[in-house]
Amino acid sequence: MSSFAAINKTMSDTIFSKIIRREIPADIVYEDEQAIAIKDINPQAPTHILVIPKKPIPRLSEATESDRDLLGHLLLTVQRVAEQAGLSNGYRVVINNGADGGQTVDHIHFHILGDRQMKWPPG
Ligand code: 5GP
Repeated sequence: MSSFAAINKTMSDTIFSKIIRREIPADIVYEDEQAIAIKDINPQAPTHILVIPKKPIPRLSEATESDRDLLGHLLLTVQRVAEQAGLSNGYRVVINNGADGGQTVDHIHFHILGDRQMKWPPG
C-alpha cells in the first residue's frame, strides 16, 4: 500500500488530507511518495504554493525526531517546487505554527510566496 493510500481518516483529518486523497479538488503542481504541492486557494502573492507532507503532522511543534528525514525532504521539495515555478529572483518560505503563528489548517505545511517583493517584518 502506498503512503497515499495509508492515510487514515482520523480525528485530526483536515482539508489537506482530503485533497491528498482526491476527495476534494485542488490545483496540484507537484507530488511524490511523501509530499504534495498545491496552489493556495486564497493567494497572498502572485505565486502562492503550499508544500504538504502526506503524513498528517498537525504542526511543526508536534514533529519529532522520527520526522527528521521527512522535514528535510519537505525543504528540498520547497526548493524544487520554487524552481519549477520560476522563482529565480527569490521567494519567501513560511510555516505558521499554532494560534499565535496564525495557523488555520492543523496539518503542517510550508507556504512558498513569490513573484512580488516581500516585506520585513511580516504582519
Ligand atoms: P495556515 O493559515 O494554516 O498557515 O495556511 C493554510 C492555507 O491553506 C491558507 O493560506 C489557505 O488559503 C489555504 N487553504 C485553506 N483551504 C484550502 C483549500 O481547500 N484548498 C487550497 N488549495 N488551499 C486552502
